[in-house]
Amino acid sequence: MKNLRLTAIEVDGKPRPRSTVHIGGIPVGQFPVVIAGPCGVESEAQTMEAAIAVKGAGAHMLRGGAFKPRTSPYAFQGLGVKGLQILEKARQETGLPVVTEVIDPRDVHWVAEYVDALQEGARNMQNFSLLKELGRAGKPVLLKRGMHSTIEEWLNCAEYILSEGNPDVILCERGIRTFETYTRNTMDLSAIAAAKELTHLPVIADPTHGTGRPSLILPMSLAALAAGGDGLIVEVHPNPEKALSDGDQALTPGQFSQYMQKLNSFIGVMTAWK
Ligand code: PEP
Ligand code: MN
Repeated sequence: MKNLRLTAIEVDGKPRPRSTVHIGGIPVGQFPVVIAGPCGVESEAQTMEAAIAVKGAGAHMLRGGAFKPRTSPYAFQGLGVKGLQILEKARQETGLPVVTEVIDPRDVHWVAEYVDALQEGARNMQNFSLLKELGRAGKPVLLKRGMHSTIEEWLNCAEYILSEGNPDVILCERGIRTFETYTRNTMDLSAIAAAKELTHLPVIADPTHGTGRPSLILPMSLAALAAGGDGLIVEVHPNPEKALSDGDQALTPGQFSQYMQKLNSFIGVMTAWK
């Protein structure tokens, strides 16, 4: 693929070693990691309950949005700085590293002070000012694939971040728009295998946004790991019916705990097979 320089798996015909990206001490790229938590930080009680539950079930990191890029301007936009303070508290309580989305280039540097990794969301994938700022953030970046972006466009966005001096990029396949309506998006499993073939970066999958359906999260998680994925990001809410965003697709803490048990037994089988 042309124009891939710093992200490419090969340089001058020689293979590059695969990268490990450390997020708050968790080495992404070494074993299947699970990042879990609510779509949005709604309150201290909601986030703390989710954080304690996902930690108890064996997740490695906590996710939660303090800035939500919503389709409607009237929908919940996130708690902003208050949300970041809540995430900071959840990290102190659970010891889980925290990942949060940033949607404005002006916010990158101060938001980076609160969290362990910054997410660039699907809607912002080709926001080049944001990419460049994230390249100077000094924190790992979780780069989601845009819902109408090709693999080549996605990998070029990673190239933007690396070329600004930040080598710590994790790619995330989160589903693309197709003619299908049963699922919220079509999770592109081939993109996971392709990104692993083309780049040295860790690649994870988001089966929550990738399907929009709680019942499809486990099967698509297994498929993502089988396709070579280095981990998963999953939405968990203590009370999905009351969620201010993405309630329809969230797992409850109980469902997440069962999910982790099944995922871990699959990882055991996969490790033996490898
Ligand atoms: C999210 O992670 O909650 C989110 C908004 O994801 P995406 O950018 O993939 O839609
Ligand atoms: Mn969400």
